[in-house]
Amino acid sequence: MTTYARYPLTLVSGKGCRVRDDSGHEYLDFISGIAVNTLGHAHPRLAKALCQQAGSMLHCSNLFHIPQQQKLAARLCSLSGLHKAFFCNSGAEANEAAIKLARKYFYDRNSSRRHIITATQSFHGRTINTLTATGQDKVKIGFDPLPPGFSHVPLNDIAALSAAVNNHTAAILLEPLQGEGGVNTAHAAYLKLVRELCNEHGILLLLDEVQTGIGRCGTMFAYEQADIRPDILTLAKGLGGGVPIGAMLAEESVAASFGPGTHGSTFGGNPLSCTAALTVLDVIAEEGLLANCRERGAQLSAGLELLRKTYPIIREVRGAGLLIGAALDESSATMAADIITACRTAGLLILPAGPKVLRFLPPLNVSAAEVDEALAILATALKGVPA
Ligand SMILES: *Cc1c(COP(=O)(O)O)cnc(C)c1O
Repeated sequence: MTTYARYPLTLVSGKGCRVRDDSGHEYLDFISGIAVNTLGHAHPRLAKALCQQAGSMLHCSNLFHIPQQQKLAARLCSLSGLHKAFFCNSGAEANEAAIKLARKYFYDRNSSRRHIITATQSFHGRTINTLTATGQDKVKIGFDPLPPGFSHVPLNDIAALSAAVNNHTAAILLEPLQGEGGVNTAHAAYLKLVRELCNEHGILLLLDEVQTGIGRCGTMFAYEQADIRPDILTLAKGLGGGVPIGAMLAEESVAASFGPGTHGSTFGGNPLSCTAALTVLDVIAEEGLLANCRERGAQLSAGLELLRKTYPIIREVRGAGLLIGAALDESSATMAADIITACRTAGLLILPAGPKVLRFLPPLNVSAAEVDEALAILATALKGVPA
């Protein structure tokens, strides 16, 4: 079905940060399958681990204990400071699980708290609940009736959030850095206040790190940079390095509300996808990819800041690690899509975050030379577009 306005490009193979199309043209990939290909393309460790696992067992169902899943749960809990994990196959599913768990937690306490507050411009997925949670009207058109139980407040406005909390509020659901909605940072000071607000009211803090998690922002989880911890955390995109897997992690006392029969997934946490995630985590540690993400992210941001001085159509450079946005002049006739097309023609793949923001999401193992090459291609593209 035509659910995507696809680029006129067919990608057939890749190696590291480069991909090749069906006519043999090469491109620098600063999209990474939308923050998915954490290790780039065809990483030998990941390819080998997946081949080995496929030769042993792909799937056996959650009716049985799965050692790879237990190992991954333990690893993610130790990295996050949370206590229990549930595995699914996507970001939307992870958020669905988080919404269900938050409600069940209050049901189990004979509380009527069921309502979830999210931020405007947020993005939480495309299922009926997660699109209702999403703070952007464009994804909701035509899908009513939408389920009740969600409301939205502007990001970084603690007064608006405080005013929205009442005795029906179960949880606040936020992205520490909004990806799809425009690369908008939730400030560390704000996140700290949100954490305090949740503690004061005894409500849950849900962080959607589907895009920001697994090193994308320079730390394993973006919330570490605000020195807080959520009660429930969702992950997906970068976790499997290209193999579909989602995870919902929770605090012990919260996780206890999911007993047998309350939730499930046929495919979630199968041996193949867990092997992929374990390998991604191993390679991030062994190849020092958090440090590389911070260094290459600083290099990319500095390069974009320099371009901003020459090309005033770039108004602001923002983001963290290797989730970087370049916001364009709202009053210019040039759209993000125009620059993205010019970059693609010149051999660089980048994506938008809304009509007026360029988004850069290279693999976490991108090299300094590749960042320089991308900046040079972007400079050429900017020369060709009207300010
Ligand atoms: C992509 C994304 C989702 C949805 O993930 P899917 O795997 O496409 O369902 C949810 N939340 C955030 C923050 C995302 O970036």
